[in-house]
Amino acid sequence: MPKRITGRYERTTFGGEEVAAFVPFALPPADPPIELNDRLAARLRLASQALVRLELAGEMVPSLDWFIYGFVRKEAVISSQIEGTQATLVDLLAYEAQGGGEARAAPNADVREVCNYLDALAYARAELADPRGLPLSMRLLNQTHERLMRGVRGADKQPGEVRTSQNWIGGSRPGNAAYVPPPPHALAEVLGAFEKYVHADDALPPLIRAGLLHVQFETIHPYLDGNGRVGRLLVTLLLEHSNLLTQPLLYLSLFLKRHREEYYRRLNAVRVDGAWEEWLDFFLDGVATIADEAVASARDLFALVAADRTRVLAHEGMSIVALKLFELLPRHPVVTVASVIKLVGATKPTAGRAIDLLVAAGILAETTGKKRERSFAYQAYLERLRVGTDLERSRSPR
Ligand SMILES: [Mg+2]
Repeated sequence: MPKRITGRYERTTFGGEEVAAFVPFALPPADPPIELNDRLAARLRLASQALVRLELAGEMVPSLDWFIYGFVRKEAVISSQIEGTQATLVDLLAYEAQGGGEARAAPNADVREVCNYLDALAYARAELADPRGLPLSMRLLNQTHERLMRGVRGADKQPGEVRTSQNWIGGSRPGNAAYVPPPPHALAEVLGAFEKYVHADDALPPLIRAGLLHVQFETIHPYLDGNGRVGRLLVTLLLEHSNLLTQPLLYLSLFLKRHREEYYRRLNAVRVDGAWEEWLDFFLDGVATIADEAVASARDLFALVAADRTRVLAHEGMSIVALKLFELLPRHPVVTVASVIKLVGATKPTAGRAIDLLVAAGILAETTGKKRERSFAYQAYLERLRVGTDLERSRSPR
């Protein structure tokens, strides 16, 4: 017996086969309503406190910029990796150091996907911050989706538009799928209700509501592709919208990647067993875990830069330009001679000398092994920032 019924099944035909598509009931969960039992209330408290610590860690001046830069990229890479994008954080930073950043020009589709994610996030945040911009709505998510899918695999799949055909998750057709989302004709209704709940005034705490909305979004699966990424981006937007975190510093996707099977299993269990509380337990654990890890990481990065600064200052023959470059490295952990020329406004020989000095001081290391178009990375910084962003999937039991 499921704990509660979370939607209805609708018979629909696809390719001559009859299948049961699921149409979720509107949020919040009812019959029974969400029970914030002791365990869940404790989880909520831990997650909220961890977010406060992360918000404070972000206030370490002047490093907020570094953390936003690094952590947003970390989230973009990992959220894209969850379903198979092969780009790593180092691929992204190396591309950006080459003067890239424009998704269109990226050397391969995987880096392009991650650049799109950054564009999409920046777009959505800017709209929300602008009093005349779009509110948190399906229109905003559609525009965000359009940016996410620009010129990448899935670009043929109605970017920016709610689907007009049946989709499915797992399997080769709806008939053998793990899950069949609502039929297209039901989308206007369920998305209308979804949007309404984003702004509804109910007694549930905003963090809980963000968790509910993520599942509801994945259950509706409004697009032909990109639902996972938009649904995870939605969590970031909701945290900011409800002032739980004023900057996108929480790379929650790392938790979802680490526990990917459990993530999918719990999404399923909400629909099949009405297991909302179990999902929330998982989600809040994720928020607390990643917020604490991000705080530790921010401290560690900050301490590293402080220690390295001392070393740089003590290095014989250190120059002003090299010092200036050193201060820019956390925002530009991979550089080239060309990028340094722009960054510090120096001539080519001066830029080259600054790099050489930082190499000699043990800060930068050449990464390409080439004679021309060489890249230099702030290795110790990257080693710390990239934890969890490599391709081999590190899974650990929770
Ligand atoms: Mg996909």
